[in-house]
Amino acid sequence: MNRINLWFKKYKLKPIPVISVAVIVIILLIVLIKMLIPNDVEPKSLSMIEDGELRTGPAAYYPIIFEVKDGDKFEITDRKGKWFEVTNDDNEKGWIAGWHTNLDIKEDVNPVAKPLKGKTIILDPGHGGGDQGASSSKHKNVTEKEITLKTAQELEEMLKSEGAKVKMTRTKDEYVKLKDRQGDGDVFISIHNDALDSSGPHGVTVYYHHDTQQDFAKTLHTSINQKSILSDRGVRNENFQVIRQTKMPAVLLELGYISNPTDEDLIADRKYRHIVETGIVDGLKVYFSN
Ligand SMILES: [Zn+2]
Repeated sequence: MNRINLWFKKYKLKPIPVISVAVIVIILLIVLIKMLIPNDVEPKSLSMIEDGELRTGPAAYYPIIFEVKDGDKFEITDRKGKWFEVTNDDNEKGWIAGWHTNLDIKEDVNPVAKPLKGKTIILDPGHGGGDQGASSSKHKNVTEKEITLKTAQELEEMLKSEGAKVKMTRTKDEYVKLKDRQGDGDVFISIHNDALDSSGPHGVTVYYHHDTQQDFAKTLHTSINQKSILSDRGVRNENFQVIRQTKMPAVLLELGYISNPTDEDLIADRKYRHIVETGIVDGLKVYFSN
């Protein structure tokens, strides 16, 4: 008689019912453990199944850090919806849309996130009326006051389609005093185009005044320069009245030099302006997402 039979005898138990109960308990325990551990364990790595972009945040309006190629591999460090935060072997970090990867993720056709919804954006088209601002050396008919109004009106339409409210400091060719170029809102954007006697200088500059406006200026600057082919003159602190007199996040954008022939051709071109305007809208989305 082996030891198991002796044990059953000692406690006066019948082997078959006891073994049956033991087997049932073990099966129940396995089922319970399986239920507690989620089936979809988050993936730890991914590889690209087509070319895509590494971005600074989890949406298509975030600036591109660099292009990634079909076959590139990354470790996953975080996830937001259909976007993955990843790092590569060189420790470069960024966000990738899941639908470009080997993970089974459907493309966002209608991204629900509308970061500009309900935000009030004040647009200030520089100059107007008797104050024409900078003028072209090449085409005497191109003036800063016209270009700034066109840019602001085009931006207004784009921002409204993103659900934002837009207030304009002027909507026609009229003179508005600097002290009246303000209002209640979430952010303030003054739009200008530079000019100098020399035709040499060119490019885009983003100005802020108060320290509290610096983040906003940097975000718009990064985003505009992602799109714009004009040279980048950086983010600068300047004591301009329209950004000094407001406490809200505010910038004054100098979107190229009318006095530079190349800049001027681009500024006067509706398609080019649209590219820069997209940069501004994307920058606003990034700003309001963070
Ligand atoms: Zn100006």
